Amino acid sequence: MDVIVIGGGLTGVTTAYQLRAAGHRVCVIERHATVAQEASFGQGGLVLPTPLDVWFGPGLGFGMRQMLFGSRNGMIYQPGLSASARGFVRQLNLARDPERFAMQCGRLRPLVDLSRRTLAEMEARHAMDFEQRDGVLHLFRTPRELKQAAPALALLAQFDYPHQILDGETCRTIEPSVPPGEALAGGVFFPYERSANCPLFAKQIKTLLDEHDVEFALGRSAESIRVEAGRVVVELASRTDETSGARGGVESIAGDALVLAAGANTQTLLGQVGIRVPLYPARVHALTAPIGYEEHAPHVTVVDYESRVTISRLHNRMRFASAPLLQGRGKTARPTPPKLRRRAIDTLGQAGHTWVPGAAKLSAMREWDGIALMSPDGLPITGATTHPRLFVNAGHGPAGWGLACGTAKIVADLVSGRASDVDSDSLAALSPTRFQHG
Ligand SMILES: Cc1cc2nc3c(=O)[nH]c(=O)nc-3n(C[C@H](O)[C@H](O)[C@H](O)COP(=O)(O)OP(=O)(O)OC[C@H]3O[C@@H](n4cnc5c(N)ncnc54)[C@H](O)[C@@H]3O)c2cc1C
Repeated sequence: MDVIVIGGGLTGVTTAYQLRAAGHRVCVIERHATVAQEASFGQGGLVLPTPLDVWFGPGLGFGMRQMLFGSRNGMIYQPGLSASARGFVRQLNLARDPERFAMQCGRLRPLVDLSRRTLAEMEARHAMDFEQRDGVLHLFRTPRELKQAAPALALLAQFDYPHQILDGETCRTIEPSVPPGEALAGGVFFPYERSANCPLFAKQIKTLLDEHDVEFALGRSAESIRVEAGRVVVELASRTDETSGARGGVESIAGDALVLAAGANTQTLLGQVGIRVPLYPARVHALTAPIGYEEHAPHVTVVDYESRVTISRLHNRMRFASAPLLQGRGKTARPTPPKLRRRAIDTLGQAGHTWVPGAAKLSAMREWDGIALMSPDGLPITGATTHPRLFVNAGHGPAGWGLACGTAKIVADLVSGRASDVDSDSLAALSPTRFQHG
């Protein structure tokens, strides 16, 4: 089949990889000059989520109280939150019920397993090096934080995530960069979880795809999509001639199937064919700096439980990421206002200062932000739509790095009409059509 993928972020690139591996002819349409330039660019690096990393459940504190009075959960709220943002938070808060949280984590688990296997196969087959680093250590300042995390800790055992629950002293043995004077009630260490360089991986996959005749329409924006009898058609925004300024004619690409992996733009394109999915955008922030003092740089990835800031070492750089900003949709499309940006950057800087002081060269710090698209039940939106030729792969929230490798495989199997690697309950829980029944 001829399959078109809109979006050359990590999700689009991994989807193209799996589609090509399944024998299809693939064209990826990406509006930037190369792949992984939006959410996949400066992200935190944590490869796969555990129940401690997800943005739903009892521990997160997405409540109205936190929004009105402020909180230390790392979330940045825009004062006077819009009705749409309040509505989204209300939906997300349904997962604060421990039973519902356990159910969603149970549905996520098969996807985590598939993603781990798929990524491992790709790494082994192509002998890939994309700055992988083993070991993730979540740190808890106070016994209260540990208590708050109890439902997630129970699920780590229930769903077989290899982990060790540690006291403060043992945490310092595992990660000697954590300063001795800092209050530390304990931690959870995941020896087999990893951080790695997401855009580097995406670019390596693109190089492989170039060698296997996958077409990349780079610098081209998909303006509209149509689903007709027997085929899908994508109209591209016309090009402007740089010297004369003249606009070219309308160009379109037709195929047998279309996968929307257009990140923050997915909803707009889906809306053109009358499909609504309740994805919500959050602007997430990151700081990157060269290693300051090697002896203070962490050996494992550190996550501050309270603020949810991920501190990862990517080769010779430190990355501090998270501080999601929740506000109205229209505002999220624009750059973060300076005051809120300062709060986000301070949140990241504070976590770094607390847990790995001296690790980063602050004078050379670069700020970055991107949009993470979240679904109200915390799971990605992956699978077939009500149009038989139209598929979606988006909404991975704060956990798209490794999960994109698994959702790519699911979509490729669905497009190819092959049996899926995950059970039918998990497929239904990821399906774009799940919100029509809820
Ligand atoms: C600061 C930050 C930190 C994060 N940290 C982590 C982490 O530690 N671990 C983790 O797992 N996840 C993390 N995430 C989330 C993760 O980065 C995302 O889930 C993932 O990158 C999403 O990939 P994507 O390909 O779906 O979206 P994107 O990377 O945004 O790609 C979408 C692509 O579609 C293209 N596009 C859109 N519309 C059109 C169009 N009309 N025509 C052509 N092209 C189009 C865009 O240009 C873009 O390249 C983080 C996100 C941010 C912002």
